[in-house]
Amino acid sequence: MTEDPLGLLVRFLRFPTISTQTDHAEDLHQCAGWLANLLQSMGLHAEVHPTAGHPVVLARTPHDPAKRTILIYGHYDVQPPEPLDLWETPPFEPSLRNNRIYARGATDNKGQILAHVLGVRETLARTGATPVNIIFLIEGEEEIGSPSLEAFLLARRDELACDVICISDNGMAADFYPTLSYAMRGIAALEVRVKGPCVDLHSGVFGGAVMNPATAAARLVASLHDADGCVMIPGFYDAVLPLTDWERVAAEACPVTDADILAQSGAPALFGEPGYSAVERIGARPTAEVNGIGGGYQGEGTKTVLPSHAFIKLTFRLVPAMEPEKILDLAEAHLRAHCPPGVTIEIERGHSGMPYFSDPMSADGLAAQRAIERVFGAKPCLSREGGSIPILTTFKEILGADSLMLALASPDCAAHSPNENFPIRNFHAGIALNQALLEELAAVPREGIHGYRGDVPDLTAASRLA
Ligand SMILES: [Zn+2]
Repeated sequence: MTEDPLGLLVRFLRFPTISTQTDHAEDLHQCAGWLANLLQSMGLHAEVHPTAGHPVVLARTPHDPAKRTILIYGHYDVQPPEPLDLWETPPFEPSLRNNRIYARGATDNKGQILAHVLGVRETLARTGATPVNIIFLIEGEEEIGSPSLEAFLLARRDELACDVICISDNGMAADFYPTLSYAMRGIAALEVRVKGPCVDLHSGVFGGAVMNPATAAARLVASLHDADGCVMIPGFYDAVLPLTDWERVAAEACPVTDADILAQSGAPALFGEPGYSAVERIGARPTAEVNGIGGGYQGEGTKTVLPSHAFIKLTFRLVPAMEPEKILDLAEAHLRAHCPPGVTIEIERGHSGMPYFSDPMSADGLAAQRAIERVFGAKPCLSREGGSIPILTTFKEILGADSLMLALASPDCAAHSPNENFPIRNFHAGIALNQALLEELAAVPREGIHGYRGDVPDLTAASRLA
């Protein structure tokens, strides 16, 4: 018996697949098995593959060499649900209200990947075959940075060969607004430890004679931006590709206004680089962000202390064609040059990921745009997103394929937050979109693919068509 889509989604969401918590490893295993069974029941060849971490579910339709091959990527792991007291209903007991399904993972990414799985199920039920070969690659470690995925792709590069990759892990520009994302920012992280005296000192006995590490940390932070919010690290913007005309037109046509972003942020006013809208600042401009700063006494009341050390946690969001390691080199040189006398700094680099760009005017990009228009009845907003999906670059490097980023998430889906939810109509639209997409992609000639081929995105094709 074929279970209805919503029933399946409820079952999928009941698995507490929190990848970062080791005591949930068995839940991830169970969920992977459940998913593989579902795919197997649809007539795909499905397997659960162990990795050094949580397993990968791999499934494929029978291979027909005459057809193009589409790899659909998603993840079945979720973020921790804490703080639990802010959830209106328990995170792993899916609840239907306001025409949405509430549960951890509802949007990110179980609802979205299941829409693709069920789209394929409907195509198979309707026609007996898919118009393209399908590979589902659904991992259980996305929320912890996909540590096993690269080795998995390298080991199975040949069997994962595909013409294009489809991912639905992105946000719609507005509620139920058709959106095709074509760029993601990269990321580079570093932590600065500012060291002064070997222990916390009496601020009366030593204050005024010794540099305060917390003050030094504040000065370092202050050196990162000018008063307008432009990053002051020399060379920081050198590799940034300026927005092309068609992209500025696309950003203009985006339904999100500065006022929307102000309202979503809850901040008293917007702030950022002059000459750019908020959408452009978020999607197309790089940033230097202080994620944390600390040092000294944090407890109740006063403590007259001169702290021995302080710290700053920084991440940079990068746009094409910036390179994380080069940016970290520049940042490190800048911070060392601005280190006040009387303290020393230690810099430790954290994780990093390349920015990603895939041409929405390529043959596959246009196919995706047509599929979206068929389902939503309107042309999609073409959007650059501010977040980072480093695996897109990994896919590009190892499989040589571009990724189409099909947004199904609602702007108020609360991914990673309490009361995460997925609108039911987005789920059904996703199922329909998968079917339209497979048909449109099937019609793309194999040699018609052109997209991001190296460090510098080729925007010329896109400009021509805009
Ligand atoms: Zn996520």
